[in-house]
Amino acid sequence: MTHPIPVAVVGVGKIARDQHLPAIAANRDFRLVAAVSRHGTVAGVPNFTDFDAFLAEGPQAAVALCTPPAVRLDMALKAIAAGRDLLIEKPPAATLGEIETIIAAARTAGVTLFATWHSRFAPAVAPAKAWLSGRVIDSVTITWKEDVRRWHPGQDWIWQPGGFGVFDPGINALSILTEILPGSMHVTTATLEVPSNCATPIGAVLAMTGPAGVPVQAAFDWRHEGLQTWDIAVEAGGHQLRLSLGGAQLTIDGTPVDVGPEAEYSGIYRRFADLIAARASDADIAPLRLCADAFLIGRQIAVAPFTG
Ligand code: NAP
Repeated sequence: MTHPIPVAVVGVGKIARDQHLPAIAANRDFRLVAAVSRHGTVAGVPNFTDFDAFLAEGPQAAVALCTPPAVRLDMALKAIAAGRDLLIEKPPAATLGEIETIIAAARTAGVTLFATWHSRFAPAVAPAKAWLSGRVIDSVTITWKEDVRRWHPGQDWIWQPGGFGVFDPGINALSILTEILPGSMHVTTATLEVPSNCATPIGAVLAMTGPAGVPVQAAFDWRHEGLQTWDIAVEAGGHQLRLSLGGAQLTIDGTPVDVGPEAEYSGIYRRFADLIAARASDADIAPLRLCADAFLIGRQIAVAPFTG
């Protein structure tokens, strides 16, 4: 295996610039050797505007796919067919069928597939999982409320079919939920508020049933201009565990627990290197399944059109 591992970033948008490029630069196991994007470019490496041209003429490299989920299948299958190890952003694909096709192709080709869930690498998640392990859980409440205009300016794809709407951030909560409470989980009821000019919801309320019948309530809202909130509260035998700021902070019975600094994308690239070294894959579809079930079982309500 070549070391450091050559890697190309595909889809030079917000998350590629904010997180992937710095995480790659800070990780001695990787070396950025190319970028592929129709509009965005990265200084200091060859840039390609066409993915096929990159695969045919560019350097041999692992691929980090940072494009939106609805356009991930085609590129993922081409990368796998070209024998490239592959990291994909969350949500891993637009549908369960698509991600299962990607997983099967990676297995057949013998390449590493890492379907990332960045929120699972937030520093409070592992300590929360350890604290909850073996305890009887009474209830879980998820509150994920943010201002879409602040966090997703100009991103039209989130409102298109396959764009997930408020489930784009909401699936991060579901990825933490399914990590800290492993076991079967299903959606009981869902209400999806869909702006009349959009294909995807701007708000959602879910009731889920977790392991041993634990009731889980989730409220996702993208119209929230006040305090931005990404919280998961768990009641367990008279104690309360609270994950805040998307898993960056942890309190037990109101007392803060020191969980260390932010570590999401550094953790993702450490794990990708380990998976490549082990010739292994990691692609958990549980959060996407909950999301898909919410769309299947959910009652859709038309709400005011969205203006960006
Ligand atoms: P973004 O800013 O819109 O960037 C995505 C890039 O993908 C675009 O800049 C575009 O670059 C490329 N692309 C290729 N085909 C496209 C198409 N049909 N429509 C739109 N863009 C296309 O989005 P992002 O926020 O980086 O999100 C990308 C993925 O990362 C999503 O799955 C998202 O859930 C995930 N993510 C985002 C964040 C965040 O804070 N934004 C955090 C964690 C994860 P070219 O036009 O140059 O090809």
